[in-house]
Formats: sequence, C-alpha cells, structure tokens
Amino acid sequence: MSNLSNLPNSFNTPLFPTWCPGCGDFGIWSSIKQTLTKLSLPTYQVLIVYGIGCSGNMSNFINCYGFHSLHGRAIPNAAGAKLANHKLSIIVAAGDGDLLGEGLSHFIHGARANHDITVILHNNQIYGLTTGQASPTSFKGTKTKSTPSGVIDEPINPSILAISQQAGFVARCFAADINQTSFLIGEGVKHPGFSLIEVLQPCVTFNKINTYEWFRQRVKKLETSASDILTGIKLAQWTDETINIGILYKNSRPAFHQQIPLLKKGTLLEATGTKRDISKLLATLT
Ligand code: SF4
Repeated sequence: MSNLSNLPNSFNTPLFPTWCPGCGDFGIWSSIKQTLTKLSLPTYQVLIVYGIGCSGNMSNFINCYGFHSLHGRAIPNAAGAKLANHKLSIIVAAGDGDLLGEGLSHFIHGARANHDITVILHNNQIYGLTTGQASPTSFKGTKTKSTPSGVIDEPINPSILAISQQAGFVARCFAADINQTSFLIGEGVKHPGFSLIEVLQPCVTFNKINTYEWFRQRVKKLETSASDILTGIKLAQWTDETINIGILYKNSRPAFHQQIPLLKKGTLLEATGTKRDISKLLATLT
C-alpha cells in the first residue's frame, strides 16, 4: 500500500496513514484523492468533514479544508458549511457506527432535505477504533466484544435508508476496487443533492466475517440504476449470495440550498459580508 502516497497529487500530505496494514480505508483514501484530482478541483475549494472513528483519521492525510466533527455530527456540520458557502464541494467521510449509530437522525434528515453533500460511508460493520464492538450494520448473530452471545438486532441497510428518503444519488462500491470507488465518488460530488456512497470496507483486524474474500464472492456490478424508490430498494437489498455495487438510485430533486431565494444571488458569506481576518488567530496556533 505504501506506493499510494507517492501519487503526484496536490491532495497528498507528507504523512502516511496509521491504519492497520490492509485496511479498506487505504482504498477509500486513495479513491478520494484520485477523484478530486480528476475533477480538477483546487484544494481550497474542497471541504471534507470527518466523523469519529478510524475513517476520521483521514483528516491528517488529505490536503484540503478539513473539519473533524463530534461523534455522529459530521452531516449537520457539512450541511451548515454548505449553506454558508455553497460554492464549496463538501464531502463527509465517516463510518457506519458514526453515521448510523450516534448520527442516525442526521443521516435521515440530511437525505430527506437533499443537502448537496457527498457522504462516503465506510461500512466495515464494526466499531474499529474502539477495538471491535457491534455496529448498526453488524449482521444478526455476530459475536463481538459488546455482543458476546451475538447481535440480536437486524442490521441497517444504509443505501435502502437513503433511498427511502429520496436522497438524490445513492451508490455502493467495494473499497478494493479503487477505479469504481473513485468513479462513484466523482459522480456523487457532481450530483447536486445528497449523495450517499456506501463503501464496503473490510476491517481486517476486528471483522473476521466480512473479509475481502467474502465480498469478492458476492459483489456484482450493476448495469443500470433506478429512478423510482421501489426498484432502488430492490437493487440495494443484500442477499446471502449477492451484493449489488454501482449506482443504485438517483433522482433530480433540487438540492436544499437551491430552494432558498437568498442563495440564488450568491453565498451566505457574500450576502452577509462576514469575511474576517483570522491571521492573528492562526498565528497563535503555530
Ligand atoms: Fe481499519 Fe479496522 Fe484497523 Fe480501523 S481497526 S484501521 S477499520 S483495519
């Protein structure tokens, strides 16, 4: 994996990630940087809001604006930033525990509001950073530190949840396939509305069930996507044998900020003239 940081890319930092060797986060990290470069976005035009978890460690490894949020609060922070300056491309990078546990209500409201943000959900079906507790996407019966007799609940399917709320764009991919992951993140960033990219992300240390091999035996690339909710939900369902990857669903609903008359004239920052000189504040941090 070490060659990934050597790519010529303005989004690189001199730091190399501290994830466990083989972690699916490496593929997502590489895909995000590849996407932003392909879209020719300048680093100052991109904000990534991170949740708490192993995925959030990425805040030190991508060179653009970053905000490391409180647990479960990445989506409202991203939505607020979008309303303040809708010219920014805003991405959320967070895990299944953060987005569907602590932040579940924000996930639902973000999708139904259709905020123009791209949510990259690192779905490793476990709490990795806290060393292996059951998450909202862990399979029923999974034995973990927090569920020694097995998970009792049924898992949340985040793509189905987003489709049920008419999120603008819903896709799923596998972290080992950097080309498809990068392509789908790019489509999500370009889509004017709430985009969910559910990435199947093996946690090689704490999830010994949903491994790279386990996913390779099940993922199936879709040829088409749905524009109606029921077909989208059908495509997003997991079966014992098949997990569809690709664009599951999209619609052309206007984004939240596009429906606010004030923001048609420019950003909220421009309208309120609240530019501030923060050079003195920055000087105190060096
Ligand atoms: Fe990745 Fe799991 Fe290690 Fe966290 S604990 S860095 S998710 S492999």
